[in-house]
Amino acid sequence: MSQEDDAFAEPRREMIEAIKASVRDSASYTGRDRLSDRVIEAMATVPRHAFVPPEQRHVAYRNTPLPIDAGQTISQPLIVALMTDLLEPQPDDIILEVGTGSGYQAAVLSELVKQVYSIEIIESLAGQARKVLAERGYANVTVRAGDGYAGWPEHAPFDGIVVTAAPEEIPPPLLQQLKPGGKLVIPVGEEHGYQELLVLEIDGDGAVSHRSVLPVRFVPLTGDR
Ligand code: SAM
Repeated sequence: MSQEDDAFAEPRREMIEAIKASVRDSASYTGRDRLSDRVIEAMATVPRHAFVPPEQRHVAYRNTPLPIDAGQTISQPLIVALMTDLLEPQPDDIILEVGTGSGYQAAVLSELVKQVYSIEIIESLAGQARKVLAERGYANVTVRAGDGYAGWPEHAPFDGIVVTAAPEEIPPPLLQQLKPGGKLVIPVGEEHGYQELLVLEIDGDGAVSHRSVLPVRFVPLTGDR
């Protein structure tokens, strides 16, 4: 850890306390008043300041979304932590992320699972995320530029899929690329309208159950369809 990284240790600790408090406050929606220790540990480890633009570094550990390049955002830490927790990631899991953005969510997952595949539709963001993830030693994350609506069939099936941009409907290819018992954590809804965070789970017989976790506000899942 560099001296610059050291300077962020205290703000990161405060971010963790803010996440824990927000999780308790939203327990009536989410049904959980605490996150798993593994997820908290990952959030306490990943250097969020490395994933935000230099001019945002001084506020990197605020529990808020922040602007990144290309008019996109790095999600609120609470939401990253909650979506990660909802996936219930296991050490041997292979996870797909749709919407790499800054690479931060992928780094958090990288701490918790065997392999992360992440797709970003904006090529410049995919390139930047790939670079920072490599610089920071996240060797088990593979990023590619493309439309994540179609998933990543070459690496399917996945133990879990997390989508960090909101489609209006659930993309069928993503459900098809889940292993039995796998979870899809996804915001769904209109661009400027109501969106909710959903968890879909597929059982051994292919039956899909879903539950709504809480109202959210995400950038739209874009692409030509
Ligand atoms: N997970 C990101 C992070 O940790 O920084 C936050 C991502 S941001 C809220 C959503 C991202 O999804 C944007 O970078 C956007 O370009 C990307 N995106 C939107 N539509 C997409 C699509 N069809 N396929 C892949 N990425 C997409």
